[in-house]
This record gives sequence, structure tokens and C-alpha cells, in this order.
Amino acid sequence: MEIKKGFADAIGNTPLIRLNYYSDQTGCEILGKAEFLNPGGSVKDRAALFIIEEAEKKGLLKPGGTVVEGTAGNTGIGLVHICNAKGYKCLIVIPDTQSKEKIDLLKTLGAEVRTVPAVPYKDPGNYVKVSARIAEETPNAIWANQFDNVANRLAHYHTTGPEIWRQTDGKVDAWLASLGTGGTFSGTAMFLKEKNPKIKTIAAEPYGSAIYNFVKKGELSSEGNSFTEGIGNGRITENMKDAPFDDAIRVTDEECLEFIYTLLRKDGLFVGGSSGINVGAAVKLAKELGPGHTIVTILADSGARYQSRLYDQDWLKSKGYSIPEV
Ligand code: PMP
Repeated sequence: MEIKKGFADAIGNTPLIRLNYYSDQTGCEILGKAEFLNPGGSVKDRAALFIIEEAEKKGLLKPGGTVVEGTAGNTGIGLVHICNAKGYKCLIVIPDTQSKEKIDLLKTLGAEVRTVPAVPYKDPGNYVKVSARIAEETPNAIWANQFDNVANRLAHYHTTGPEIWRQTDGKVDAWLASLGTGGTFSGTAMFLKEKNPKIKTIAAEPYGSAIYNFVKKGELSSEGNSFTEGIGNGRITENMKDAPFDDAIRVTDEECLEFIYTLLRKDGLFVGGSSGINVGAAVKLAKELGPGHTIVTILADSGARYQSRLYDQDWLKSKGYSIPEV
């Protein structure tokens, strides 16, 4: 018998899935870590758990306490699930530009949700800054601080990285992932590099993110924008500091659509936009390296979270795109 001891214990150990269509097409083994199979539905369950358990270990979070975070999506969802399972309250600050589905889901799961106007990071009214202030003013509360709390990347250093190493018997040529906080990319990259410094660790980037130019030219600047959610950043967070970036590969929104619809129609995998950027970058790398290489990336969340957007013809049309013919 193998029984998981509750929600938290069911996080991680996700399958590594061979993406058959693109692997056959390129002659490489392109493998997707199925993070959408985490119990809260995304890769962010791992970071949420490590952040909460670190605060417990340090004695910062006590029974009946509150976890506060500024988040637009998956981290908040992961945190609320874990708070429910562990007996904490959860307060989420979210910009009012976020979809009704996400705000409703956070409320349904049991979070106290405060919506604030969407303003830049430097503004004291920014959702991240507001969440920090609320955490400070609330007794027995912690601020999860996913961008700069390195418990986030440690989750991937201690779980995602070792799982990939074990699942591939150490036969990995490259690791690619897009970066939001940078926790997933950096923690996994740091672990894999320690195991084998020859493994290439590469940022998969949407347009509008500054990490691409940071890796390519050492400057934080960006071109264009993207409809993807949860990825891209304009700064180097604590979770990204000292991470081994060997290269960066950029993928357009149009290409992203092609990849997610191909994954759906050819491989039966229903994934979100960041997975389209990840797999797109992995396929570009496979073509560059040539056949015979093993390339690992992540499938961060399910397409179900974007049904009214990336998978909706009218929404796509309003953005100037259409459903690609696959
Ligand atoms: N993909 C999705 C769908 C996400 O929600 C996130 C987290 N914001 C990421 C990728 C990036 O993960 P990380 O924050 O670990 O860089």
C-alpha cells in the first residue's frame, strides 16, 4: 500500500512524460514534467508548501495563523489548499485586472481575497507591496513573498531537480523553463548542474520579459509583450540570483498557440500558455542540437485554467489570433 498522508504529501513526484509528437519529429527525447498533476493543479504547489513549512520550522507561523500573499494565480491557489489542510487562514491580494475565474476560485477555496487597482511595482499600492503591509499588520501572519523568499527555489532544488535526475537515470542534456519568480528554473538548474555541469540550463522566454536580454547581453530590457500568464519578469529576483543561465530562447505568442494546440491534438495533453513557451523553446533547442539529445522542461499547469482565453476562439480573435490548424 502506498498512501499519501494528506494534501501536502501528495505534492510532487509528478510523471515525466515523453512528448511523442515533437520527440519523433526532432529525434530528441523531449520530456515534460507533468506539474499540472499536482493536487492544487500547478507547479506552484511545491513552492507554496516549502514556504509554509519553512515558516513553521522557524516558528514564524503558529496554529491558527495567517498566510498572506500578493499573487495573481497559481501560487495563491496552492497556498489556500495547503492553508486549509494545515489549519491556517489565507489572505490573497490580487490586482483587479485578473480574470473573474481566478478571483472566484480563490474565494471558493476559502481565501480572503482583497482586490486592488493594478499599478506598477514601484507604487506603494502595488499588490505585492500591499500584501507585505497587510502581513506586517496582521498578528501571527507571514508574508509568503514568493519572488524573493528562496524557500521557493529550494522546493525545486530538493524535489523537482532530484525527481528529474532519478526519472532520467541522469541522462539529461538540457533543462529549460520559463521564469516568473524564477524558483522553478533556478532551483532545478542548480541541482542538475551540481550533478553534471555539462547539462545546459536555458531560460524559455516570452516576449515582454527582461530575462532574455539579461542572459544574452547582461541588460534588463525587453521588446514586445505576451498574452502568457505567470511568466516573464523585469528584474532579477532573489530566487534567480546566482542561477546558472547558459542561454535563453524566445518564443512568440503565435508559436505558443501552435505548440499548445499541437500538444492537445497530437499528444492529448491540455496545458497552459507557459507550457507552450517551454515546449516551444525545447523544440527550437532540439533542432539546434540535432537528434539524440534528452531535453527536459515542465508542463506547469492545465489548459483548463485558460479555457476562456487561449482555448476560446472569440478571445483569441479579439487579440488578433485564431485557433491554429493542427
Ligand atoms: N507557469 C505558470 C503557469 C505559472 O503560474 C508560473 C508561476 N508564476 C510559472 C510558470 C513560473 O514559475 P516560477 O514562479 O517558479 O518561475
